Amino acid sequence: MEALFRRAQNPFCAYEIVLVVSDCPDAPGIVLAQGLGIPTLVQAGDTVQLPWESRLLPKLQTRGVEVIALAGFMRILGKTLLGAYERRILNIHPSLLPGFKGRDAQEHALEYGVKYAGCTVHIVDSGIDSGPILGQEVVPVHDTDTKESLAARILEREHHLYGSVLDHFCRGEYRLEGRKTSHHPPTGPYAALYNRLHFGKAPPFALPKECRPRLAVSACLLGIPCRYDGASKRHHAVERLSHDYAILPVCPEVLSRFWIPRPPMEFKEGDGLQVMAGKGRVENTRGEEVTAALREGTRRALTLCERAQIVGAVLKSRSPSCGNRAVYRLGNVVPGQGTFASALTSRNIKVISEEELACAP
Ligand code: SF4
Repeated sequence: MEALFRRAQNPFCAYEIVLVVSDCPDAPGIVLAQGLGIPTLVQAGDTVQLPWESRLLPKLQTRGVEVIALAGFMRILGKTLLGAYERRILNIHPSLLPGFKGRDAQEHALEYGVKYAGCTVHIVDSGIDSGPILGQEVVPVHDTDTKESLAARILEREHHLYGSVLDHFCRGEYRLEGRKTSHHPPTGPYAALYNRLHFGKAPPFALPKECRPRLAVSACLLGIPCRYDGASKRHHAVERLSHDYAILPVCPEVLSRFWIPRPPMEFKEGDGLQVMAGKGRVENTRGEEVTAALREGTRRALTLCERAQIVGAVLKSRSPSCGNRAVYRLGNVVPGQGTFASALTSRNIKVISEEELACAP
């Protein structure tokens, strides 16, 4: 927990620790968190009225907890938390899973006579240490090792691995298919700037000095994984623009805190213009209303563009946020603008879509 906290102090770390929870009042982690100034919550076991998880869940939701990172937490989680935080609960285990699940993993590895041990960060599912693996580090086992010396060597790697995986996880860089995960960090010339603008805690508008006019571009058109499916929508014509303009990669859906892959969304009422005026409504295919999240992410993207004093924008043509020509409404593609495109247009910022750019001389 302390290692996760230290990483969170880095201005470019994507996650923030908003709460430390324990079911044990004298857990050292609680004392440590209090010393570090992190809010804590101690909640003892089940009560007759309500089970532990049902009491905890609303408290996590009230505090805006998006991801849970277990650290030395020995309860087996049940349906309530696993359902509410599906694929958003991570754990670290001191073995190379699927070997040596459960308690005393280092001791069992030593007794078994393995030559390499290590640690694993995985997504928590309903089994014990059985969820999809996100990252592993290998540690050699020496002939002279005791369980203490091996555990200490593994722990050192755990401290590095957990923070790193959590950071990348919170950027939405992992894709999950069945129980296989793959890591897709943004690449290309705009990746560093994109990360800094969308995830860092450093002043987000500390942009590099530029004498060229700035142009906002939908991040996925620059090869940054699209929030919808994680794919790159890279558009080579956009890169021609970098001779004359400084490119500002912007993804309103990241700033709306949508994950990859986000479920398809459509307007139930209006389009982006109405949503930004507080009237339209957007839902995803899970039936969740995402209007407020989209509006908030769009406002953040807009602030970014205003501070950067952009002179125009090149946006993806069909999207509930960036779409400049058409949006999905009630199962149809209809002319209209997404939230971000309409917000820029209503501020008299010239917006063109990827198709228009491709046709431009
Ligand atoms: Fe691409 Fe815009 Fe959707 Fe982000 S919000 S994935 S930049 S279309």
